[in-house]
Amino acid sequence: MAIATVNPATGETLKTFDPLGDAEIDERIERAVRAFHTHRVTGFGGRAELMNRAADLLEAEQEDIARTMTTEMGKTLAASRAEAAKCVKAMRWYARNAEALLADEEPAAADIEDSGAVRAYVRYRPLGVVLAVMPWNFPLWQVIRFAAPALMAGNTGLLKHASNVPQTALHLEDLFRRAGFPEGCFQTLLVGSGAVEGVLRDPRVSAATLTGSEPAGRSVASIAGDTVKKTVLELGGSDPFIVMSSAGVPEAARTAVTARVQNNGQSCIAAKRFIVHTDVYDDFVNRFTAAMRDLTVGDPMDGATDVGPLASESGRAGLEELVEDARACGATVLCGGRRPEGLPDGWFYEPTVLADVTPEMRIHREEAFGPVASVYRVSGTEQAIQLANDTPFGLSSNVWTRNPEEQRRFIRDLEAGSVYINGMTASHPALPFGGVKRSGYGRELSGHGIREFCNPTTVWYG
Ligand code: NAP
Repeated sequence: MAIATVNPATGETLKTFDPLGDAEIDERIERAVRAFHTHRVTGFGGRAELMNRAADLLEAEQEDIARTMTTEMGKTLAASRAEAAKCVKAMRWYARNAEALLADEEPAAADIEDSGAVRAYVRYRPLGVVLAVMPWNFPLWQVIRFAAPALMAGNTGLLKHASNVPQTALHLEDLFRRAGFPEGCFQTLLVGSGAVEGVLRDPRVSAATLTGSEPAGRSVASIAGDTVKKTVLELGGSDPFIVMSSAGVPEAARTAVTARVQNNGQSCIAAKRFIVHTDVYDDFVNRFTAAMRDLTVGDPMDGATDVGPLASESGRAGLEELVEDARACGATVLCGGRRPEGLPDGWFYEPTVLADVTPEMRIHREEAFGPVASVYRVSGTEQAIQLANDTPFGLSSNVWTRNPEEQRRFIRDLEAGSVYINGMTASHPALPFGGVKRSGYGRELSGHGIREFCNPTTVWYG
């Protein structure tokens, strides 16, 4: 895949970039190692000052970076602005909290009495140079939720961003440099995915985090396994959105639309499978379908647009194949199911609702990465849980019920990294984010996230 900015709303190639050569990659890794040796011994106060400065800069240039993101991957300008604002908050959150999250942990004296220690504690020390392989769908947020905790912990970062968001990637490198982070603390490697193996195998690189598709995750995890390096994987999702009979149906249906089409439908934590109790099925599906049909698809720079184009031509082709497969296998298309008419040559697709989805259809097992929802009818909690878990993924889950007993059952039994009750999944700096099953492993955000790339060192005094 060429490293280039191609506007998904028009299909026009705006700028191309030459990938770095081996010598330049080597030089950057060396710089990251040198930076690690000085950065790791700085204090939390100094790092927080730099992180806050980076947050201030990002806040001041929110409009510029938002326009770059929308141009490169097609999310609405409003969504890009919101993403930049969310990054600013997360940077400040880690600047404020990193020291407490990584404070030494001392077990009670009685618990270690028989270890012979006069005193013992755990110290969280940084791991070193961390490679971050990131996707285009939240081109700023995915990087910041790695970079803010990693840099605050004393690590240094090498970003291999998706090939279709090079200007966002370069902006990020520049942002941290202008904020005053020493040279080499955070660098962008403009390289294709073929260069990842060499970087990850390099003994100077300590660990890797990847957010992206399952094949990419599998490849990075196997190389990391071969070289015995720590990884965090945040992969795909096909999150359930369960609506039980006690739910407030109008609010659930309104939220369902946002949960499905946020980011033009290209979010790992978008709700993708709508599992609805038969008592409220017709009411929910009618409201949901009507609202999906009413969405405005168009130019993402236009404030009136709800859903912009998909980020790539191949992404739209993949989505179309899933819908066609479902249609051929007997699914009912309640709305959408085609490209909209009257728009320029971009990669647009109509918000789509599919009913009568069955396990033989590809969309039942695969991730629909675009504005396409599958709805299912169930007759009770057991069936809802069984259907929700009948997926290879386990990222997040959404449940609408006012019944406390049902809430307890879903919390106990849903196979996912999160359970959101009477609301939709949204990441937050103070709450861990990540999945189980083939959605990956490890956690980002919160104390869990910042400790992933630390060496929890046992210190023992005799
Ligand atoms: P992708 O193709 O896997 O790309 C993600 C990143 O991995 C890009 O930087 C890409 O580089 C690189 N890459 C691709 N193949 C690779 C390989 N074999 N070895 C090493 N690196 C490789 O993912 P995508 O389709 O663009 O992004 C969408 C996917 O990401 C969806 O499945 C979505 O659910 C998932 N996602 C998950 C989360 C989460 O937090 N769980 C968040 C957002 C997105 P190139 O661009 O150069 O190919």
